[in-house]
Amino acid sequence: MHGSMMTTPLTLTPFLERARLLFSDREIVSRLPSKALHRTTYGDFARRSLQLAAALTAAGLRKGDRVATLMWNHSAHLEAYFGIPAAGGVLHTLNLRLHPDQLAWIINDAADRFLIVDDVLLPILAKVQDRVKLEKIFVVASSGAPVPPGFESYEDLLSSAPSGFTPPALAESDVAGLCYTSGTTGNPKGVAYTHRSTVLHCLAVSLADTLAVSGRETVLPVVPMFHVNAWGLPFAAVMVGAKLVLPGPHLDAESLLELFEKEQVTLTAGVPTIWMGILAALEQAPSRWKLQRMRMVVGGSAVPESVIRGFDRHGQTVVHAWGMTETSPVGTVSHLSPALANASEDERYQARARQGTPVPLVEIRAVGDTGPVAWDGQSMGELQVRGPWIAGSYFGGSQDPDKFTADGWFRTGDVVTIDRHGCVKITDRTKDLIKSGGEWISSVDLENALIGHPAVKEACVIAVTHPKWAERPLAAVVLKPGAQATAAELRAFLEPRFARWWVPEAYAFVAEIPKTSAGKFLKSALRDQFKDWKWD
Ligand code: ADP
Repeated sequence: MHGSMMTTPLTLTPFLERARLLFSDREIVSRLPSKALHRTTYGDFARRSLQLAAALTAAGLRKGDRVATLMWNHSAHLEAYFGIPAAGGVLHTLNLRLHPDQLAWIINDAADRFLIVDDVLLPILAKVQDRVKLEKIFVVASSGAPVPPGFESYEDLLSSAPSGFTPPALAESDVAGLCYTSGTTGNPKGVAYTHRSTVLHCLAVSLADTLAVSGRETVLPVVPMFHVNAWGLPFAAVMVGAKLVLPGPHLDAESLLELFEKEQVTLTAGVPTIWMGILAALEQAPSRWKLQRMRMVVGGSAVPESVIRGFDRHGQTVVHAWGMTETSPVGTVSHLSPALANASEDERYQARARQGTPVPLVEIRAVGDTGPVAWDGQSMGELQVRGPWIAGSYFGGSQDPDKFTADGWFRTGDVVTIDRHGCVKITDRTKDLIKSGGEWISSVDLENALIGHPAVKEACVIAVTHPKWAERPLAAVVLKPGAQATAAELRAFLEPRFARWWVPEAYAFVAEIPKTSAGKFLKSALRDQFKDWKWD
């Protein structure tokens, strides 16, 4: 028997026509390097994205060709998000915070043909340009200065677009985007998102029980558009016609708070370090900013419970989510289950601080030494996932058995427990686990507890070798400016909260904790720094 339904391919191009027809007046606001605000509309955005597609095609782009972007979050980047795939090309977002060696490696591995770059980021390009073969480089004059000689202007490219362009028909299996993992766990690997995976992820992200992106929201992705497609929010915002506010290069707490207030933002997203800075600013001057009630999606690293509680005090709601480059990225989201409606306040905060339940169409399991572990909230195993927006291989076809199981699951490298409601709690990454006397200690739990101490600004717990226990935890701690705490005080603070053998004896007070390009703790660097720790 044949189904009756159409098999319309799931591609991004129809979103442009939808934007033009349904919400052409809705605003897209971008902050320029000068801090001035640039305002445009979905109507203009749709027209210009198609112009970009037409112009790239005229410039020789063929189906599947990679077009890289080296850009902050702003409307021209959004045009690239849609214009490049609409031409049949592949949007390859480059992480501008990477080391030039890594950036050059990635551009070469992806075989990028064209690049669109912000003029304020040309100094980064200069560090790699002699090591890569880019055929054409288009410069977005975001600073307002003329495009320097030797480069083509992005605006001229758009104006050169031939009229009467019809976007090519695409298959849903065609590739729309390419992102590289940030390489904290080895060489960066490319993940090639298809039109289909992007559209499905977009629909799933918008669901009420996921991030509830709707046309009534004003969305400000703090997470960069070069970091796993800003978690899919730009795609989702365009699909539903949400007002978009894009912060450009200004990601400090004051600039963001000012923008939240001025544009009446209701939905925002970023890594915990961003929110800790914002919370500190709010604590210092609670009535300085008149904010809407916002939902703040936090992911990329675990959000400490103290941060969720802190924002609640200011009438703001943290939504914790988990994902990876390989998962598009949204895999799980933490919303309070109705089953916990009558639980104590502490229990509810603990639940919100977990990574949450899988979004529809994503399946999860936790696998221990002898196979999948029970969903009892206690047994630990590696989180494995599968679903229509989860990578089944890396760009180039690699299906490394370290990352993909024989029975078709993606291995995340995160160690988790899953409770009976299907709620995931990350206890560590496999490479960051601390094994003391044959038992696992969760560095994430210890870090989150330490950050709840009033004197502690940042805390990162790593394993150091120990003559008796093989490994013991060491807590590297950054104190708040002017605050004081001793190792003995921190220990006493942790003792009532953990089994005795979990509590670190070793504390190192440091000026800062090394971070990755995505703002996560770079534990490998800390482990190097403290590898010769002397136990008394
Ligand atoms: P990389 O693997 O290079 O760090 P990703 O940006 O893809 O790059 O990071 C994915 C990893 O980030 C996950 O495997 C997990 O360890 C961590 N992560 C993401 N979200 C969370 C979260 N909410 N809580 C704890 N860890 C998280």
